[in-house]
Parts: sequence; C-alpha cells; structure tokens
Amino acid sequence: MSTRAATYEAVVRRREQLSEHLVRLELGGPGLAGFASTGIPDEWVALVPPGQFQSRYYTVRSWDPEAASLVLDVVVHDVGLVTEWVRTDCAGQICTVSDPKGSFAMPPEATWLMLVGDLTALPAMARIAASAQVPVHAWAEVPDAEELSDYLAPLEGVRWLPQPGDGASNLADAVAGIDWPTGDGYFWMAGESAQMRAIRKHLMRERRLPSTAYDVMGYWRGGTARQPRAVDPGPIWRTGKAAGKTDEQIWADYDEARES
Ligand SMILES: Cc1cc2nc3c(=O)[nH]c(=O)nc-3n(C[C@H](O)[C@H](O)[C@H](O)COP(=O)(O)OP(=O)(O)OC[C@H]3O[C@@H](n4cnc5c(N)ncnc54)[C@H](O)[C@@H]3O)c2cc1C
Repeated sequence: MSTRAATYEAVVRRREQLSEHLVRLELGGPGLAGFASTGIPDEWVALVPPGQFQSRYYTVRSWDPEAASLVLDVVVHDVGLVTEWVRTDCAGQICTVSDPKGSFAMPPEATWLMLVGDLTALPAMARIAASAQVPVHAWAEVPDAEELSDYLAPLEGVRWLPQPGDGASNLADAVAGIDWPTGDGYFWMAGESAQMRAIRKHLMRERRLPSTAYDVMGYWRGGTARQPRAVDPGPIWRTGKAAGKTDEQIWADYDEARES
C-alpha cells in the first residue's frame, strides 16, 4: 500500500489582490473531489504551481466542500517559485495541492491563547482566532497593516507591528517584550525560521514553558540571514560554572555570544 499523501489537481477560479503583498487564490474544480479538511485550524497543503515539480506550503484559509472551493492567501515577496506564479494572472491555470495536515493542539486547560506571526502566518491566525473559545491576544508583523486591518476581524486589540523589510523580521524581540497573561494558556507562533528558533529558546529558558504549552513553527527561511559567529564555548562554560549558573543558563549565554 502506498504511503504517499494524495494530491489533487485544482483550477484557479479567482485571483484577488488583498493588499500589496497578499494575493488570495480560490481553487476549485472536479479535481478536488475527495479533498477533506482535518478540522485543525492551522492546517496546510503543499502547493505545486503549473509546470513545476517543487512544492511550497500554504495554509488552508477556508475550504467549502459544497462549492469545492479551497482558498489560500499567498504572500508575494521579492523572488520565489510560488511568488512569481501568483504575480501573474494565473486564473484558469491548473495547480496541484496535497491533502492537508495540521499542528495546532491547545490543551483543554488553557484559559487564553496567544497568536504571534508575520504575514505568512496571518491566514492560520485568522482561522485559529475564529475557532477559539478562550480570550485571544494577537501580534502580527506585516508590511501592509492598513490594508489588512480587517483581516483578523472580529478579533479585537490586535497589535500590528511594522515589518522591517522583505526577508526580515523582528518578532523574537517583540515576543521577549510581551506582557504575559496569568494562568495556563497556549502560545502559537509562526514566521521566519531564525526568529522562531530564538523564540523557542526564550520559551524554554526564560519562561520555562512545558512543550505542550506552545507551538512555534518556522514557515520560511530568510535567505540573507546572518550566520551565527563561531565562538569557543570553553571560556563561557568555565565562567558560567564559576558563577554558579545552570547548564541551561550557560547555553543561553553561549547562544547570545554567537548571535551578538
Ligand atoms: C505549515 C506552513 C504554512 C504556511 N502557510 C503560508 C500561507 O498561508 N501563506 C504564505 O504566503 N506562506 C505560507 N507559508 C510560507 C511559505 O511556504 C514560504 O514563504 C515559501 O518559501 C514561499 O515560497 P516562494 O516560492 O514564494 O519562495 P521560495 O522559492 O521558497 O523562496 C525564494 C526566496 O524567498 C525567500 N522567502 C521565502 N518566503 C519568504 C517570505 N515570506 N518573505 C520574504 N522572503 C521569503 C527565501 O528565503 C528565498 O531566498 C507556510 C509555510 C509552512 C511551513
């Protein structure tokens, strides 16, 4: 028996420019017969543009089985396989999508939900917020905040953060400065991979959250991201031990030295 995920050929029924950097694709057609949502609000599909073999992942913004309508909201950045395709008038063209998969898993005892992400995470944030049964706090780092101010409606109090430029993100700094709600909650976040690695460290080391209390996903990799410096861990280790620091604190010092 094959273990390969099913794929579906879908026609682009409509292409809509939601903002300067975000394009909505409505996919449909008989080729989507058998496609089914997982019900997990951050579910995504792999999308292969026409005439290509490589795929990229996109969140299912909505799926209407009656109308066989699958909506994806696609970020248009500087260069890229899907970016360059959706920049064109792609209505009427045939692409391929996979079965969806999801990751969001909020524990039942969570009394609040925190959502943080950049423009690529906005579709998942909108779906998660729409299905939430607890108060939601949201931070969104986007280049087109004015045009997208209704995107997360009816969620109120969204903190819109300016994006520092194409291929760049400051979300790790934003999260380090967050005032956290009290009690048990769930933290969901997605965006540029290096930022997400920094956030995971922050959640583990400073906030000491159990891994069930958060889901942090690298959605894309900044091509021009600076590589960490090579630093000899020996002196940092010895100084840390002499100062009575824990192993976790010493490794955090080491990461900081590499990234400074
Ligand atoms: C689970 C999951 C869900 C996702 N959901 C969405 C979604 O709903 N909408 C969405 O737009 N994206 C989403 N993404 C992110 C998307 O898959 C990546 O951004 C993807 O690389 C874009 O493909 P591309 O063909 O445009 O660029 P690529 O060909 O992959 O990359 C070309 C260049 O662009 C850079 N790059 C890639 N993405 C970005 C970006 N966002 N901003 C700036 N530079 C970039 C790369 O570093 C590379 O240098 C999701 C990713 C995952 C893992």
